[in-house]
Amino acid sequence: MDFNAISGRHNFTTVKDPSYFRQQMEEVYATEADGFAHDIAGEIEKIERCDLMIWQFPLWWFGLPGILEGWVDRVFAMGRTYGGDKLYGNGVFAGKRALLSLTTGGPATAYVKGGFQGDIHAILRPIQRGMLQFVGFEVLAPQIIYGPVRMHDSQRKEVLAGYAERLKNISNETPFDVGIY
Ligand SMILES: Cc1cc2nc3c(=O)[nH]c(=O)nc-3n(C[C@H](O)[C@H](O)[C@H](O)COP(=O)(O)OP(=O)(O)OC[C@H]3O[C@@H](n4cnc5c(N)ncnc54)[C@H](O)[C@@H]3O)c2cc1C
Repeated sequence: MDFNAISGRHNFTTVKDPSYFRQQMEEVYATEADGFAHDIAGEIEKIERCDLMIWQFPLWWFGLPGILEGWVDRVFAMGRTYGGDKLYGNGVFAGKRALLSLTTGGPATAYVKGGFQGDIHAILRPIQRGMLQFVGFEVLAPQIIYGPVRMHDSQRKEVLAGYAERLKNISNETPFDVGIY
């Protein structure tokens, strides 16, 4: 998509305060005045239409790659996607579900509590709790493929087939407990 991950005045076609840029204030104003830039408006509309949102990404530095992080910074806009009492269970996207589908460099044995890398669920909590649940999504158990780089072709086919099978029945899945802080 070549999505521009950097926030600024170009997020908006409207201007609330030309003298000092405060992103969230401009977001609230753009919500009232239909003033989101074309790329942001298009992404928000996709979220509003979807029942299940899947983020496919490689784990980078224990988090999202910068472009996906920047997508969140720009697209999860105050006023339109959260704000006031519209947070968590009462969030704008309540009733929708989200799934993290990620790959790692490290092996599964390293991503456990007390392991070499630590608990993968703690690592994902800022994303699952602080982003997805924050705006109202129910979160499904993450789809994690550990170390695809070291997989043989047959193993890769097996994990892809397992994921395909999961997706067939995903509408019947119950939300996952992402843990709280
Ligand atoms: C900046 C950076 C930070 C990172 N931080 C972390 C970190 O914090 N923790 C961590 O664990 N790892 C980290 N990594 C490693 C990273 O998570 C993995 O390299 C990544 O998840 C691998 O997934 P990929 O999609 O990039 O795989 P690729 O490298 O694109 O593919 C993996 C293998 O699968 C093969 N393949 C790809 N697509 C197909 C297909 N359709 N069919 C068959 N074979 C295919 C490729 O040929 C390749 O051999 C980091 C990497 C970078 C660059």
